[in-house]
Amino acid sequence: MSDTILETHDLTKKFGALTANDEISLSVERGSIHGVIGPNGSGKTTFFNTLTGMHQPDGGTITFDGTDITGWKPYKIARRGLGRTFQIVSPFKNMTVRQNLLAAKSGGTNKQKQADEILEFLEIDHLADDDASDMSGGQKKLLELGRVLMLDPDCILLDEPTAGVNPALEQRILDHLSEINDDGTTFLIVEHDMNVIQNVVDRVSVFDQGKHIVEGSFDEVTDDKRVREAYLGSADDEEVPI
Ligand code: ADP
Ligand code: MG
Repeated sequence: MSDTILETHDLTKKFGALTANDEISLSVERGSIHGVIGPNGSGKTTFFNTLTGMHQPDGGTITFDGTDITGWKPYKIARRGLGRTFQIVSPFKNMTVRQNLLAAKSGGTNKQKQADEILEFLEIDHLADDDASDMSGGQKKLLELGRVLMLDPDCILLDEPTAGVNPALEQRILDHLSEINDDGTTFLIVEHDMNVIQNVVDRVSVFDQGKHIVEGSFDEVTDDKRVREAYLGSADDEEVPI
């Protein structure tokens, strides 16, 4: 029997006349890495923003770990165990890398120790006392992941975790994701790099114009006529060029 950790039912978000998320129903299995792909503007980031309480939905429900969290405030959702990273990473300025991690969490007795362990795990401990704004784009992505890990989430939403990252660092980020996943953390991941999607995800959901049009294994969805149409405007071409 499958065990669902995160589930939406008919989740809808509108911006004026634009329906950015149109009755999205999606289930994420506990312990899995679930990918979300789709053309630019198909509603992926909006979906994450609504899941994490940054947007109030115009309809539908969100259930996390057996609890209806629809309409909850972001801090409460994060505390409940649903963490996220942002497509655009912006660490606190004039703060060191370690201070950035510490600022991610309000309380906790072993905060300092936890921060140092995470820095070591992500292999950025040598940067701990540097100003976070001096980090490279890829290092900032690691810091962002570290900040989420401070909250001990059961499920992490990653928005474009490898965008703009050099290939060596990209591989390190993916290795860390696999390790964290092996420890039981579930991931929902928006990613445009199809190699990443192919290599790390268990299931893939495809969004197009705000709708969840197809779900399946990587091979199933890239083979699907509707997916090819979404990317190409035609199903005749052989490959999804993404
Ligand atoms: P994706 O992440 O798949 O590229 P987004 O979720 O960012 O797509 O955007 C989906 C659609 O919603 C786009 O047409 C975008 O312009 C629109 N949109 C996103 N956020 C807002 C906002 N805060 N206000 C108005 N329109 C928005
Ligand atoms: Mg986006």
